Amino acid sequence: MEMINEIEPIPIHADRVSCKSKGACMDRYGERVGLGAPNTYYQLNSTTKDAPVKCKYCGLRFYGVH
Ligand SMILES: [Zn+2]
Repeated sequence: MEMINEIEPIPIHADRVSCKSKGACMDRYGERVGLGAPNTYYQLNSTTKDAPVKCKYCGLRFYGVH
């Protein structure tokens, strides 16, 4: 988990993201990251690189890019 905290917030070209989204944690870091995580979506509307949303299952952070 310590290593994952050092990963930069991930830019997502969409309004929302989940572990199972294309380009999100499960895609980039393998099945183990999102394993056991329900398909929960996080809204990215008001997120920025400095204020990303954090996946509560794997700890990775995401922000919306438009
Ligand atoms: Zn996740």
